[in-house]
Amino acid sequence: MKLIFEHSVDGRQCSILPTCDVELTPMPDIMKRTVPPRLPELSEIDVTRHYTALCKRAHGVNCGFYPLGSCTMKYNPRVDEEIAALPQFTGIHPLAPLYSVKGCLEVLELSKKYLCSITGMDDMTLQPAAGAHGEFTGLLLIKSYHVARGDFKRTKIIVPDSAHGTNPASAAMCGFSIVSVPSNDEGCVDLDALKSVLDYEVAGLMLTNPNTVGIFDKNILEITDLVHQFGGLVYYDGANLNAIMGVVRPGDMGFDVIHINLHKTFSTPHGGGGPGSGPVGCKEFLKGFLPSCAISNASTSLQVKSFYGNFLVIIKALSYIMTLGAQGVREASQNAVLNANYLMHCLKGTFTPAYNRTCMHEFVLGLDSFKEQTGVTALDVAKSLIDEGMHPPTMYFPLIVHEALMFEPTETESKETLDEAAEILKTLYRRAFDDAESMKTAPHCAAISRPDEVLAARQPVLKYDF
Ligand SMILES: *Cc1c(COP(=O)(O)O)cnc(C)c1O
Repeated sequence: MKLIFEHSVDGRQCSILPTCDVELTPMPDIMKRTVPPRLPELSEIDVTRHYTALCKRAHGVNCGFYPLGSCTMKYNPRVDEEIAALPQFTGIHPLAPLYSVKGCLEVLELSKKYLCSITGMDDMTLQPAAGAHGEFTGLLLIKSYHVARGDFKRTKIIVPDSAHGTNPASAAMCGFSIVSVPSNDEGCVDLDALKSVLDYEVAGLMLTNPNTVGIFDKNILEITDLVHQFGGLVYYDGANLNAIMGVVRPGDMGFDVIHINLHKTFSTPHGGGGPGSGPVGCKEFLKGFLPSCAISNASTSLQVKSFYGNFLVIIKALSYIMTLGAQGVREASQNAVLNANYLMHCLKGTFTPAYNRTCMHEFVLGLDSFKEQTGVTALDVAKSLIDEGMHPPTMYFPLIVHEALMFEPTETESKETLDEAAEILKTLYRRAFDDAESMKTAPHCAAISRPDEVLAARQPVLKYDF
């Protein structure tokens, strides 16, 4: 497929600008560019066809099943987009005087209130732009708390080995050293291992519950209690909130600080690098360390993003929460968990779940012995799914499961879709025994088959070479 620059023809254009109705002010020469910008020159239909062709090569939630584990690729109701697109929201300026944007301030206050009540937190900042950004912000809170108490020795953050890669990365960015604790056979934190690493140099523990293998850690109260006994704080990675919202609250599990991925749980499309939002909530005693902005009472100089964060994403979350209501939010989680367990159950007898117990909103298959029998890997199964019109699940994550495939069907999928997905997976299971070779070269119908991922990561070509 040609790049848009390769379609360009000198002098071709499609802009129809109205004649200027204000007096022209010449720009000083010093401010003018000496060479024109190298923008592609195309007609409107060229542009439309180019982006439509690109769009057809991508798979989105609107195209088909997208069970990408750990990402909560749920369907986002159109009404939330419509609300966020209202000109009263899109047409404001972040520096507008507060009296003129009372409605927008109410949106922020109400969002904070609902998100605090869903998570069991006392206050919140809406500034962070994503989950990882929230982690960084939350860890700064933990750091500020210890420093404010004159406790300068707390340099370590404990992270379970099942954690998402952003957890240790954020801790390192905050200047902490990372202590990893192993998981036990059930996929939960190994309590003895945790006890053996706890000391008075631990600033905190980061945990997601349910964790990245889709298991709710039933020892959570003991875990948070242990960390508190040593004076550490406990951080909740809220990326898996879709499994528990309206049912149980991180604040009641003993967590002190949390982030929420609005773009996973609360109705913002993601995956294409669009704007996200990672609000950070905390308990009362940490309020004073939150980033400051015009609508918070915090007196810190901490600011992690300009103004109020990604405002339009916050509106979508509020619209989503208000349309579902308390009962609906709870049902969304319950159905997410039901769907994951249903799909896992349908696959029994073929692929093996890594942990053979009731899961939360996602589950992990371990294809270790399947690979030994057939030579077909988790990657080959994932690639074969593309030909079947289904987005592959997350592969090779979490790292503690070998040949992992991680499915998160989400609550917005129907039983029919799940049945269909189960049939496709069972067909692929059988194909691996009959015709492994065809799976090793899949996908056969996609525009791109098996790119050199190492080369793409090491030597990415990010700009057009004119
Ligand atoms: C997605 C995710 C994150 C990071 O969130 P981003 O919004 O992608 O920065 C952190 N932890 C877990 C468990 C996740 O699934």
